[in-house]
Amino acid sequence: MAKSLSAIPGNTFPQLPLTVPHAAFEPASSLLSRIAARGGASSMQRFCGDIAFPVDPLFRGEKVAIGQLAQLAGCDAAALEWVSVRHFGKGHFRLRDEFASLQSFQRLRVRVCPECVRAEASTAAESWRVPRRLQWKFSSIRSCPEQDVCS
Ligand SMILES: [Zn+2]
Repeated sequence: MAKSLSAIPGNTFPQLPLTVPHAAFEPASSLLSRIAARGGASSMQRFCGDIAFPVDPLFRGEKVAIGQLAQLAGCDAAALEWVSVRHFGKGHFRLRDEFASLQSFQRLRVRVCPECVRAEASTAAESWRVPRRLQWKFSSIRSCPEQDVCS
């Protein structure tokens, strides 16, 4: 198992030559996953280990790690932070000014909007083309605001 790295302020990451564009509704965890897949990594953990990227702080939504991911992707850090959930531990989460709990999130299965997926990736071979949407994480959101689809 790879050692968990801290997100160290001041550490910089160069923009990767092979990356993906950040979608306005896409949380940091999804962007990191797609960048790893785009680069041909066998897993996101392995990708982060190879480039010494602080994956755990990113998944906790720490501002420093989000800024470092924005450097890798060449995107706006504030826009990425706007759609990323902050995890404070013990089931406490925050998105912007709203608090959430474990029950707020769809955790047992990955939920997507099939119409959005179909619109963005014509084949499963390029799964990195499909950004996961922030709204797919919330168990209380049962329909897609972009398509006329309910789950
Ligand atoms: Zn949709």
